[in-house]
Amino acid sequence: MSQLIDGKYISQKIREQIKHKTADYFGTHHKKPGLATILVGESPASKVYIRNKIKACEEVGIISKHYGLPETTTQSELLELIHKLNHDSSIQGILVQLPVPKHIDSQLVLDAISPLKDVDGFHPMNMGNLLIGKPGLKPCTPYGVMKMLEEIGVNPAGLHAVIVGRSNIVGKPMALLLLQAHATVTLCHSKTKNIAKEVERADIVVAAVGIPHFVKGEWIQKGAIVIDVGINRLDDGRLVGDVDFAEASKKAAFITPVPGGVGPMTIAMLLWNTLEAAQLQIKKENL
Ligand code: NDP
Repeated sequence: MSQLIDGKYISQKIREQIKHKTADYFGTHHKKPGLATILVGESPASKVYIRNKIKACEEVGIISKHYGLPETTTQSELLELIHKLNHDSSIQGILVQLPVPKHIDSQLVLDAISPLKDVDGFHPMNMGNLLIGKPGLKPCTPYGVMKMLEEIGVNPAGLHAVIVGRSNIVGKPMALLLLQAHATVTLCHSKTKNIAKEVERADIVVAAVGIPHFVKGEWIQKGAIVIDVGINRLDDGRLVGDVDFAEASKKAAFITPVPGGVGPMTIAMLLWNTLEAAQLQIKKENL
């Protein structure tokens, strides 16, 4: 039987650290870091995500400023707001909740956020920094996975990591972070010929597919570390991951649950990035 990686517990520990760091930041700079959240439209799921992020900010002493914009907001209106926030000294981080309505080009929006305020780590400059191993803001979910590995005492160096899913927000940056930590990385996707065979060789498996129970228990090597990023709602209302947890947990040494695994880490790393962004901006001002 495997050991659970408790994302709630680890994220709470990280939030406590952030709380102290935020207080130190306030002590030194006499202001609290500010996070601007932008939501275009009325998606109930997005509203819940935003509400959770705002609440998490309050708990650690980060000021949040929310912009709830109507569905009819034009691309240029949204870009104008981002431009204004890029120059607002009370705001250190900018987050645009995705997805945005179809008439808005999401990449254009992400590109418009100042790389120094890009707390989601999605700006091409931050992605590029990740690729070449330079410091920068890192995408929250894969960054949270790295923190989880650190917390359970796993050094990825020399291990074989297999990631299923190659999205820009999870799979690709996950591969880069693991590579930076000296793992040997295999990145699988919908055109990969035999995913089972790839996963069977993995010391670390990261599933980010968006298909319930996609990764089967029999694919898992005995003693592997299994990180399930997936969040899928079944017809009966249950939330499940991309890994067949019941079977995989019989073989894995460590496994994340869904819910209560990677999810809470993503929010903790958003707070972490907001503080990191604030510090990067101070450093730049002092150059
Ligand atoms: P995307 O839909 O953007 O990407 C899914 C990836 O899975 C793609 O690379 C796709 O391949 C691959 N894929 C799809 N079907 C198959 C298949 N049959 N075989 C192999 N690969 C396949 O999803 P995201 O990365 O945004 O999210 C993945 C999951 O993680 C979702 O459940 C999402 O809800 C969850 N998530 C959870 C977060 C958290 O905080 N815990 C944060 C972000 C996401 P291809 O590129 O070839 O199409």
